[in-house]
Amino acid sequence: MSAPEEFDVIVVGGGPAGSTAATLIADQGHRVVLLEKQRFPRYQIGESLLPATVHGVCRLLGVDEEIRRAGFTAKRGGSFRWGTSPDPWNFLFALSPELSGPTSYAYQVDRMTFDDILLRNAARHGVDVREESSALEAVTTGERVTGVVYTDPAGERRELAAAHVADASGSTGRLHAAAGGTRQYSEFFQNLAVFGYFAGGGRLPEPDAGNILCAAFDEGWLWYIPLRDDLTSVGAVLNRDQAGRIQADREGTLRESIRRCGIVRDLLGDAERVTEGTYGSVRVRRDYSYAGTRFWAPGITLIGDAACFIDPVFSTGVHLATYSGLLAARSINSVLAEELSEDRAFGEFEGRYRREYAVFYEFLAAFYDMRQREESYFWKARKVTNMQSGDMEAFATLVAGAASAESALVGADTRTAAERFTSASADLSHAVQRTGAARTPSGERMTELFRAPVVSGVMSEMNRIQRRGVSGPATAEPPLLDGGLVPSADGRRWAEPAAEGA
Ligand code: FAD
Repeated sequence: MSAPEEFDVIVVGGGPAGSTAATLIADQGHRVVLLEKQRFPRYQIGESLLPATVHGVCRLLGVDEEIRRAGFTAKRGGSFRWGTSPDPWNFLFALSPELSGPTSYAYQVDRMTFDDILLRNAARHGVDVREESSALEAVTTGERVTGVVYTDPAGERRELAAAHVADASGSTGRLHAAAGGTRQYSEFFQNLAVFGYFAGGGRLPEPDAGNILCAAFDEGWLWYIPLRDDLTSVGAVLNRDQAGRIQADREGTLRESIRRCGIVRDLLGDAERVTEGTYGSVRVRRDYSYAGTRFWAPGITLIGDAACFIDPVFSTGVHLATYSGLLAARSINSVLAEELSEDRAFGEFEGRYRREYAVFYEFLAAFYDMRQREESYFWKARKVTNMQSGDMEAFATLVAGAASAESALVGADTRTAAERFTSASADLSHAVQRTGAARTPSGERMTELFRAPVVSGVMSEMNRIQRRGVSGPATAEPPLLDGGLVPSADGRRWAEPAAEGA
């Protein structure tokens, strides 16, 4: 193998996490190479986005106009057949006190197009994008990651050296082990998803027609995503004990799940499943939720699914991927500019990232817990009271950041994880009941939902990113974490709060 090629930063993986980080680092004039195993456009699941990605991160990346012109379905909120009410209830982003205004929507995207836009944009920003280039292993020098060995499109082994490696290789990549941690899997969310695409399919009445619909049934829940007028993404999330059944008959399992879930069955009516092309197969994914015990080590940072993943019911995957890409870019840029020590810069990265993950985790656990009356195994296994307290405590400690010595960063809520989940669940359930089951509830009633502490916790950091994208650099922000840093004026590095205000 010839001498390693040198860069400032190597990014592994060209999904939303990798493209976001690479672009924002190259923007600062650093030499960035991105290795992507596949040739884009490539298929990926995760089609329902949140406003913080569309209006916050995409604006920072300079792709908001291109995304707007791509013709994706506008998503104004979510519709849920969940909890105890037999009727769907809706939330619209516009009815959040913080999200209202012209950016109160996201998109349902076909990920081939969306991810390709982000990757091509990275190349336009100066990133050396190398497709069909698979990272094999990290190169270490002493305790530090200093490079990556990969195979190029001709199958030749090559070596790259850099001051920093960002692993954005998703849930299947293996590079994360170089950070020295392990993946901790949640006992609570251990699901399998089986999904396919239908030509046509009904739509909810306006203004909910572009919403994601999540509908619970005895054995799990279904997503129903209106991708285009003539294309709907439908997936069943089932307990992992269904693995054998799914393996034996994917299509049959999906069809049976649809048959058992009235609202989705009715919407699909006579719609035919697509059987040809990229959307023609019924796919299976394990959507186990996990978080790594370390998100960074000297010379390497983990972002997106390479670091952590949570159950897809609230469409958080791409948000966490692009958010962590933004956080990592700020930290790497600050260290390369010799403005901050690695401990300080990556402590902020990890503290913020774990906090966001923990808030979503709590929200989703509360969300599942709203189906308390369910007696089927899928729902029983996900009642907070049935969770093993040891596992819960370990996981809560992990996501709260204590495992990374960042405990000072997550506030002083000393209640046990089980107590916090139970209280969050009660808040959420109460707010949903007060919101009612009306198909298009009034703003006043929806405000009730957004007032629930667990929901406003979910919204708060997303709102900051979105506001920053919209209002630009002028917005001064207080530190999110006690003793923490603030974004620099251009949003691409960190600054000490006093220095930034000076
Ligand atoms: P990815 O998008 O997985 O990108 C990683 C890239 O790394 C890939 O292109 C891969 O080819 C490349 N790669 C892998 N190994 C290597 C290697 N060795 N060398 C070079 N390149 C490599 N999220 C949402 O926001 N909304 C949803 O509605 C949603 N629904 C979901 C439903 C299910 C069933 C599941 C399982 C997930 C869902 N998600 C959803 C989550 C979403 O799919 C992910 O969180 C998101 O794709 C993560 O982005 P990423 O950039 O971290 O990784």
